[in-house]
Amino acid sequence: MADPEASAPPAPYDVLFEPVAIGPLVTRNRFFQVPHCNGMGYRDPSAQAAMRKVKAEGGWAVVCTEQVEIHPTSDITPFIELRIWDDEDLPSLARIAAAIHEGGALAGIELAHNGMNAPNLYSREIPLGPHHLPVATFGYHPVQARMMTKQDIADLRRWHRNAVARSMTAGYDLVYVYAGHSFGGIEYFLSPRFNQRTDEYGGSTRNRMRLLREILEDTLEVADGRVAVACRISVEEGLAGAGISRGHIEEILGELGELPDLWDFVRGSWDVDSTTSRFGPEGEQEKYVAGLKKLTSKPVVGVGRFTSPDLMVRQVKSGVLDLIGAARPSIADPFLPEKIRTGRLETIRECIGCNVCVSGDFTMSPIRCTQNPSMGEEFRRGWHPERIRARGSGSRILVIGSGPAGLEAARALGVRGYDVVLTEAGRDLGGRVAREARLPGLASWVRVLDYRQQAIEALPNVEVYRESRMSADDIVGFEFQHVAVATGATWRRDGVARWHTQPLLADPGADVLTPDDLMAGRRPRGPRVVVYDDDHYYLGGVLAELLRGEGFEVELVTPAAQASAWTVNTMEVDKIQRRLLLAGVAIRTSAALTAVGDGQVTVANVYTGQPGEVAADSVVMVTARLPEDELFQQLLARKEQGQITSVRAIGDAWAPGTIAAAVWSGRRYAEEFDTELPGGDVVPFRREVTQLHGSGSENR
Ligand code: ADP
Ligand code: SF4
Repeated sequence: MADPEASAPPAPYDVLFEPVAIGPLVTRNRFFQVPHCNGMGYRDPSAQAAMRKVKAEGGWAVVCTEQVEIHPTSDITPFIELRIWDDEDLPSLARIAAAIHEGGALAGIELAHNGMNAPNLYSREIPLGPHHLPVATFGYHPVQARMMTKQDIADLRRWHRNAVARSMTAGYDLVYVYAGHSFGGIEYFLSPRFNQRTDEYGGSTRNRMRLLREILEDTLEVADGRVAVACRISVEEGLAGAGISRGHIEEILGELGELPDLWDFVRGSWDVDSTTSRFGPEGEQEKYVAGLKKLTSKPVVGVGRFTSPDLMVRQVKSGVLDLIGAARPSIADPFLPEKIRTGRLETIRECIGCNVCVSGDFTMSPIRCTQNPSMGEEFRRGWHPERIRARGSGSRILVIGSGPAGLEAARALGVRGYDVVLTEAGRDLGGRVAREARLPGLASWVRVLDYRQQAIEALPNVEVYRESRMSADDIVGFEFQHVAVATGATWRRDGVARWHTQPLLADPGADVLTPDDLMAGRRPRGPRVVVYDDDHYYLGGVLAELLRGEGFEVELVTPAAQASAWTVNTMEVDKIQRRLLLAGVAIRTSAALTAVGDGQVTVANVYTGQPGEVAADSVVMVTARLPEDELFQQLLARKEQGQITSVRAIGDAWAPGTIAAAVWSGRRYAEEFDTELPGGDVVPFRREVTQLHGSGSENR
């Protein structure tokens, strides 16, 4: 797809299309898809191969795998990554490398021994670390790492050498030594917080970097100039002096700066590096990475959720980075480099920084993306971020509602070539995403609307009508035969969600608000507000932040053990507690609302039932939602009467969910329109099923 002979990139961005030498390699430009997890790993290798190939097609010069566990002592189960434990893993890895090459990119593999980050729940091996310490994972696994002996260190070096050799057999061009993100186990040796050894691998910075030096030297020796060697390293742990500091990293680069062919600088652990837009701006890492490039003559790659080509150019011209690294921007738009190269900046699907992609990895499910609904579906369903098959008929389609679902359905149907009419009851397009983007920290989310609105404006076959609330009679009267109902959902006022599945009785004098009320501008009637969060994603926390920022006294009450508990999957949960607590929001966990009175609410501890009372002038219910599906039900009846041919509810009007789910639902409608669906008895996507080992009789 990316044809380097095609027209030159626009002048301000030509620097981004210069080749860069990485050891024996020369890249076609400066765009580098850094390793990133995807929840597919060893379980879905062909799906991963297809996903990486699309990125290569989209113009990335280097496309890497996620971390690849090199040995059964490096098993980060329950997370699903790739493995290179022995030759049995090679066919999967080779398929991915071949797919990247087919797409036109160089293939990188991130070899990882997770050390004391690996709980080894699958292999049941004892984790290996610099010292006797509990494993440093996202879960409180009751597992301790064992202090590595000299023999363990020798074994680790041999395993790493084996993995390098296997990576070369599998066809990779670039192999990583991983000492970053608190995943690469070597980092625990570098960090004075974890490394308390008294032998030659502990103590001084020079001693603590000994293992990294040895593994780099081993890797270079096996690579033998035939493949490039990268080192990914955390330049700062964000631990207020306890971990790796700027001084340490400068000393490490002073000693090892010339060893690898490429330095890949990251910041701290994964959650520190991959902040959401709610907690950090684009290019946030610059202040930690700036100045390090001078300490080495080797090229440097780094990330920053870069979607702005101007900022990318500045990174290169000001000498911060040589290669523009991206995980999330390459997920939201696999064709980002091609779009910059061909001057189609307005077609870039900018990452909104929501970390829904991360949630795929955290929930052990294939990667998904709010902006790019084809992400993770390249192999399973044959979806592509830029291509969709041409229309199957001359049908005209009415899409009702311009939220994420309706916008994506209208856009994708329009690209297929159908005549589409998109109607919106209100004056503004965007539905919930336009409303939520006005809340604290969520401004970037408006990109879900911006990208689709621009795309729709460029499609002459998609007409948009605002302030056009449609009734069933209107639809029949205008002779629409095919209707997608994307009318969204409404937040409940009656407390029904997970804890209460029946409406909660409220005093008639009580002031009960919903998120819809707050987003429409209504405010609590008095200063004391309880935000009751039985939704557990971001909104309860965001609304507490909004009200606190406006001067209300806010207590967030939740049956969960933390505010916004599900955001553990977007790596925001700790940052949310910190922000709310520092802002002065009181957080009452493990508590369910039991009654809403006029001036107070009663709560009960979810374990003991012990009651409590909280003074509150108003309550905000962040609970469940109900689909706005009245029109859909009416249209179903019209279909029965033969007045229309097809009707489907999509997005929140079908079942309230995430914005990502609504976008995906809109895409699915467009993909499946005019398709004979196989029916619910058939698995609606391709998958890979575990291959059986031997005949089975040997195990009995
Ligand atoms: P989703 O997340 O499923 O896309 P949203 O709630 O974001 O849903 O968007 C639904 C949109 O549909 C809102 O902008 C709303 O104003 C609009 N809408 C609801 N009912 C109608 C209707 N009868 N006719 C046209 N637009 C409607
Ligand atoms: Fe960006 Fe969100 Fe997509 Fe991840 S899911 S790539 S953060 S838009």
